[in-house]
Amino acid sequence: MFEAEKKELIEYGIKVFKSGLVHGTGGNLSMRVGENGDMYLITPSGIDYEQIVPDDIVLIDMNGKVIEGKRRPSIEHGMHREIYKKRKDVNAIIHTHSLYSTALSITRQPLPQIESSVVLMRGQIEVADYARHGSMELAMNVVNALGDRKAVLMANHGQLAADESLAKALKTCVSVEHCAQIYILARSVGQVYPISPEKCDELREYIKTSYGQK
Ligand code: 13P
Ligand code: ZN
Repeated sequence: MFEAEKKELIEYGIKVFKSGLVHGTGGNLSMRVGENGDMYLITPSGIDYEQIVPDDIVLIDMNGKVIEGKRRPSIEHGMHREIYKKRKDVNAIIHTHSLYSTALSITRQPLPQIESSVVLMRGQIEVADYARHGSMELAMNVVNALGDRKAVLMANHGQLAADESLAKALKTCVSVEHCAQIYILARSVGQVYPISPEKCDELREYIKTSYGQK
């Protein structure tokens, strides 16, 4: 089932790996599938991105039941599922261990709205409290800190992007990482001034109505 979608998930895993957002088998990806969007495909646990084949991808329903696949799914399958259950607007999730996002997560400081990309993620990127990798406690911490935004930092662990498609989720992961780098650089030379909430609203509206080709 969902052979084309499995291939797409594998392609995006390789893109994530090649973009340097993860090392080794760190991180994981999933996408919502099915007529009612009540299942998701997820990468297997601990297999190198460039070695993953369609049969390694695991299909799971929203109760956590494996529908198809012989591999053990990513240990974060519960985290992905809880996000799909809470956020009907989310069709794809990418979790990475990228350098600057993880560094910021270790300081347990959020990423403020310092630049247009963060503003477009619908608000300051919060830090989910630490809990063991693969635990339901981590899943719930991530759901809570994500709220209705597009991304979240995970304390002492990494970052996660939740978006409408894998293409958008990858762009969000790259933007979070880029902005975390900018933020750390800015903090190292002086005081940081985030864009005010009113100006963020203005910018969001302006980009929605006037940016790019119509
Ligand atoms: P998996 O290989 O099981 O997906 O685990 C990687 C990871 O990033 C856990 O948080
Ligand atoms: Zn991880």
